[in-house]
Amino acid sequence: MLFQPPIPPKYAGLTDEQACAMILERKKALGSRLVILGHHYQQDEVIRFADFTGDSLKLSQVGAEQKGAEYIVFCGVHFMAESADILSEDGVTVILPDLSAGCSMADMAELDQLEDAWDFLVGECGQEVIPITYVNSTAAIKAFCGGHGGACCTSSNARAVLEWAFKQGGKVIFLPDQHLGRNTAFAMGVPLEQMVVFDPALPNGGLSPDQARDAKVYLWKGHCSVHGLFTAQQCDDIRRMDAATKIIVHPECAWEVVQKADMAGSTEFIIKTVSEAPAGSKWAIGTEIHLVNRLVERFPDKAVRSLAGIQCLCTTMYRIDLKHLAWTLDALAAGRVVNQIKVEAETKRLATVALKRMLENVTPVPVAIK
Ligand code: SF4
Repeated sequence: MLFQPPIPPKYAGLTDEQACAMILERKKALGSRLVILGHHYQQDEVIRFADFTGDSLKLSQVGAEQKGAEYIVFCGVHFMAESADILSEDGVTVILPDLSAGCSMADMAELDQLEDAWDFLVGECGQEVIPITYVNSTAAIKAFCGGHGGACCTSSNARAVLEWAFKQGGKVIFLPDQHLGRNTAFAMGVPLEQMVVFDPALPNGGLSPDQARDAKVYLWKGHCSVHGLFTAQQCDDIRRMDAATKIIVHPECAWEVVQKADMAGSTEFIIKTVSEAPAGSKWAIGTEIHLVNRLVERFPDKAVRSLAGIQCLCTTMYRIDLKHLAWTLDALAAGRVVNQIKVEAETKRLATVALKRMLENVTPVPVAIK
């Protein structure tokens, strides 16, 4: 995780009103040279300045399509800014307004850990393994997958990518989110007994050579700290309170939660499902609270609430605030770049291979995994 030094007092002392005025003014001055991207989980105060909103991959693709843009300011987390840099043309500068806006899940898989896992599974156990990484991972992990016959996936297309992977080789190592891997493979008919958790903190992932040989899917021991807050008990409580409420959750939730839910799918799938639901329908949603609150506001004719009684907030994304955005844009308008996210050339090349393999083998339509 990167560290963000304190921003100059001139910006740290801004009121929200002053910061908003500065952002609007600098945005206007920079015009089409600047694109601001806002992830679905971003706080309202910031996302209102975004030119585009969406999930991480969609935003990176949209950013790359903006011909003439010189700067992409990504109001998301670090791996998203890396993806934007990987997909954008040379000469485009990608900026993350707060360097400490990391992703706890992406930080759970490091390149040297994956290299050790590979040596054990492929080298010692002689397994034919296809590495698949969720896009919520570092550029280095994406590059490893690209360089070893693997691919990236999103929560929308994980099933299609796994289908492709199983055709390439018998086994898959899925990282960094064990839950997305387990939920997707289970929905495809892979029994839980054929999936083992690979714990990078333990020698050989905590697996014996026999366990490694017998498994079909190796699930990296990583998770999202936000979606990990949803529980099967919360599903039971909702059912008890009101049987008419439908439960829809993100597949980064634990398997037990997904099994109890009515539906599971990506953020785009959740938005589409609730948007198309009839007036009067009731929804309990298991995903980040800013997205849920936006759906509450957008659909006053439907009863929308969070599945959890607690605030399930992506605290790292929340670090991007008005002051950091104002600081970033003020510097750009003055011809200075702060907080550039730049992926090294060879890593970029191999990560692009993994992203391209994903895009060539899947449909962009958000699908349910349950
Ligand atoms: S919600 Fe979870 S997976 Fe998404 S950026 Fe935050 S910590 Fe990472």
